[in-house]
Amino acid sequence: MTEASRSRRTLVLVDARALSPRVRSLELRTRDGSPVVYEAGQWVNLYPLHEGTPIRRSYSIARAPDPAVADRIEIAVTRVLGGPASEALHALPIGAEIEMDGPFGVFTRTEAQRAAPAIFVGTGTGVTPLRAMIQDEARRGGDGPPLVLLFGCRTEDDLLYRAEWEALAARWPRFRFIPTLSRPSESWTGLRGHVTVWYEPIAAELAGAHVYAAGLSRMVDEIRRISKERLGWDRKRIHTERYD
Ligand SMILES: Cc1cc2nc3c(=O)[nH]c(=O)nc-3n(C[C@H](O)[C@H](O)[C@H](O)COP(=O)(O)OP(=O)(O)OC[C@H]3O[C@@H](n4cnc5c(N)ncnc54)[C@H](O)[C@@H]3O)c2cc1C
Repeated sequence: MTEASRSRRTLVLVDARALSPRVRSLELRTRDGSPVVYEAGQWVNLYPLHEGTPIRRSYSIARAPDPAVADRIEIAVTRVLGGPASEALHALPIGAEIEMDGPFGVFTRTEAQRAAPAIFVGTGTGVTPLRAMIQDEARRGGDGPPLVLLFGCRTEDDLLYRAEWEALAARWPRFRFIPTLSRPSESWTGLRGHVTVWYEPIAAELAGAHVYAAGLSRMVDEIRRISKERLGWDRKRIHTERYD
């Protein structure tokens, strides 16, 4: 942990947009212009105000480090009904200030892991640290082992960054985007059901792969169990981030 990550800094909300009916993307800049130094996959603590008191909650940084916007981070927040922090972050106006510390976390990729195939498994905003990791790989570019994103949501409207995933898969043969919906419309032609239904057959095709799973514990724990018990993977190949 560096000195900068231990101390609190003030961020300013400079941009925001709805990614889906329940998810708001927030672009935050350091007030003093200092860079936020992080690795793809890490998270920060934010301190939104609830009834005048700051409350601490963690949020994954949703994009790869980019020197062009070194003083900024992007996050995506799911609105939890009655959730004090997520509701405050959904209501935060442009120009408002918020405290942050971090970045923290070991949900990141080493050079050795980069040399192996990867399956990224996310549900809801659990896809955001995976987006940072995949963008990081895309920026490095070129050939390499396959990268597969298995992304689970309820409906088409909940498929965060859908156009981006589809464009990346179309131009970069290394990358495959596999969405699965638990409550799709009738016209949906993709996979149906939870990520835990599809994970085993897809992962079994990826010899020597590492898995990166992020989201709520119920899904993450099941992915860990399938990887160990059904696929026989060593725990060193299983990387997880739990949101609850
Ligand atoms: C390492 C880490 C990274 C995280 N990154 C993100 C992120 O990038 N985006 C994000 O929206 N949240 C993220 N979270 C969750 C976040 O910290 C808060 O728990 C969430 O915003 C709810 O806070 P609240 O005060 O609104 O609700 P609370 O009253 O604290 O309710 C918490 C409950 O909300 C549910 N919940 C928490 N997160 C989610 C979610 N993303 N989707 C659906 N239900 C949820 C869980 O059941 C949890 O028990 C992360 C958590 C951790 C530990």
